[in-house]
Amino acid sequence: MRKRIRLLLLLLLCAALLVGCSSAAATADPEADQKSKIYFESMDTIIELSAYGSGRDEALRAARREVERLNDLFSIGVADSDISRVNREGGGLVSEDSAVLIREALALWEETGGAFDLTVYPLMALWGFTTKVYHVPTEEELAQTLALVGSERVSVDADGVVTLGEGQAIDLGGIAKGYASQRLMDVLREHGVSSAMVSLGGNIQCLGVKPDGKRWRVGVKNPFNPDAGLSAIVEIDDEAVITSGGYERYFVDPETGVTYRHIIDPATGYPAESGLSSVSIVTKDGTLGDGLSTALYILGLEKASDFWRAHSGDFEAILIDGEGVVYVTAGLADRVTSEKELRVIQKDVS
Ligand code: ADP
Ligand code: MG
Repeated sequence: MRKRIRLLLLLLLCAALLVGCSSAAATADPEADQKSKIYFESMDTIIELSAYGSGRDEALRAARREVERLNDLFSIGVADSDISRVNREGGGLVSEDSAVLIREALALWEETGGAFDLTVYPLMALWGFTTKVYHVPTEEELAQTLALVGSERVSVDADGVVTLGEGQAIDLGGIAKGYASQRLMDVLREHGVSSAMVSLGGNIQCLGVKPDGKRWRVGVKNPFNPDAGLSAIVEIDDEAVITSGGYERYFVDPETGVTYRHIIDPATGYPAESGLSSVSIVTKDGTLGDGLSTALYILGLEKASDFWRAHSGDFEAILIDGEGVVYVTAGLADRVTSEKELRVIQKDVS
């Protein structure tokens, strides 16, 4: 009798072990640490997408299609994009994605006191940033063009019908890549991927953590020499790191030697000269990160710090000033490393 009970217990134990093994085999992805990476050009930049795990190749193909779809909706370089059409016709019905993004851009305009303004396009064109035929405008040209700038004249109704003010034109270049990287997180997740990193022209967003369970390490370029060395490295988990640097697109006036950069201060019509050379935003929301990287670059260190104090919880930031000093908001203090001493922006100013 005792023997039989012992046998029964042994059998039960074996069965339990077998069940344990097979369920572990069913959940663990044998390709969890295998990686695929694709590169292509879209959104006026180089896109790099990497994903881990089984299903990654199909997921990356879907992700590429999504970037190209969004580019066809948002790009000023695509003649029948939503934005090109709105600019030509002074408004009109746009797709759901464009409506959502324009609404976000208008909300950012409000929140940043007008620093982020999607109506700067006529200024971008005047300075030649749209054609690369650069031109330092006269005061008169600036005044005329500035009169066309102002998001208060732009609206999107509940159906997605956009209306622009007379002579206005819009440009989503300051926010579109962040929206795209955010969308890619959904597309990759829907394809069963739980670990991935995307880079849209250096704007990074990561899904989950690395396959080994560690956080991703993302470099922030040295704005004075972007091809050599990093100013900082930040560790992230399921977040975006989106950077605006004056080094991205600029020209030097051959007559005066003055450098003009592609982020325009809507208050003056001139390229922003706030004393910051680079702004990186770390956040769960890629769209917000992109809009804020542009806006805080214009606002400068003091106002950017105050903006963070008023909105901390939504994002963290790494700001590099004109001398290369690296400032980080308090929430990043133990997640950023740099060869230089970091200055921490504290929540309470005393
Ligand atoms: P990058 O495109 O290099 O990543 P940004 O995200 O800072 O950098 O975007 C810069 C682009 O944003 C410009 O090329 C222009 O299209 C647009 N832009 C420039 N100034 C502003 C502004 N004040 N508000 C909104 N968008 C802007
Ligand atoms: Mg931006």
